Amino acid sequence: MINTTDFSPNLHFLEGVELTELHTHVGFSISPTMLWEIAHDQGIRLPTKSYWEFEKMITIHEAKGYEEYLSMYDWTEKIQSSPEALFTGMQNIVSGAYRKNNITKLEMRFNPILRNRKGERDLDHLIVFALQGMERAMLKYPVKAGIILMMDRRFSQQENAGIVKKAIKYRHRGVVGIDLAGPISLNDQSARFAPRDIKSLVEEARGFGLGVTIHTGEATGIEEMWQVVEELSPDRIGHGIACIQDQKLMDHLVNNKIVLETCPTSNLNTKVLKDFDEMRHVYATLKKNNVLFTINTDGPEMQCISLRAEFQKLLEHNILTKEDLLRANQVASEASFIKQE
Ligand SMILES: [Zn+2]
Repeated sequence: MINTTDFSPNLHFLEGVELTELHTHVGFSISPTMLWEIAHDQGIRLPTKSYWEFEKMITIHEAKGYEEYLSMYDWTEKIQSSPEALFTGMQNIVSGAYRKNNITKLEMRFNPILRNRKGERDLDHLIVFALQGMERAMLKYPVKAGIILMMDRRFSQQENAGIVKKAIKYRHRGVVGIDLAGPISLNDQSARFAPRDIKSLVEEARGFGLGVTIHTGEATGIEEMWQVVEELSPDRIGHGIACIQDQKLMDHLVNNKIVLETCPTSNLNTKVLKDFDEMRHVYATLKKNNVLFTINTDGPEMQCISLRAEFQKLLEHNILTKEDLLRANQVASEASFIKQE
């Protein structure tokens, strides 16, 4: 584990540097030990009695296909599907981010409907307890934190509208933005999904001052990414690395100051990127074209990574320089949806 006093020689340039993380999923950010405790506290019947098997089940030790990767969410979401679990879990995420990485600005995202046990739990309870957990941690550590509520490609229009409604309702209490995620083609609904379906919802959220980020250009290609930028005009894009295949798309991102939330280790884990050579090409192209990008973990606990370790990896593989990394951190701080006080 890396903490503020334990630096590898490569990371000395980060001493005293406050980091910002914009892209981390609650489903992938609570430590396995904490999830194990929460599961037992709630009497959830797990598929194994062995902690070590459980840990293996919910952390990534080797690259997996994208769909297989998403299926790992099923257990973490199930365990997090109660107000109390979210209250405890959010504290764990915020405090861990500060202690392990000196992250002082942190945006965490989750989908409340995927945690309501098929309608059994009340969304307001889930969201309020999550916000209170976050706030409790902010009493202990000097972190500015915010929550992004996520829509999903598999959801009906009505369900996505429900999420945006809650984001607007809690905008003064710590919800800072909205997002869209979810796989395509797992069922009919997602196969039919098009970004324009949520255009009015995104515009409504923006009208209330919420930030807009959209997962695209990761598992989906440039066609969808074009639709996202043209129909939804997001402030930021989750991943978005597919843009390197299209000069006009990169120019569009630059001209509209759309910031990419890149997640390097996650891209290797999901096989979106083959290896470090391919990753080097991605960042070199983004840099050459002045596309604004940030570095994120996507969920440190399940990816078995930390933000500092991401930085270290990018340095050691000659993908980015120290200056690039400090710049990416600056971009992240400026692109955060968390309002400065
Ligand atoms: Zn993500």
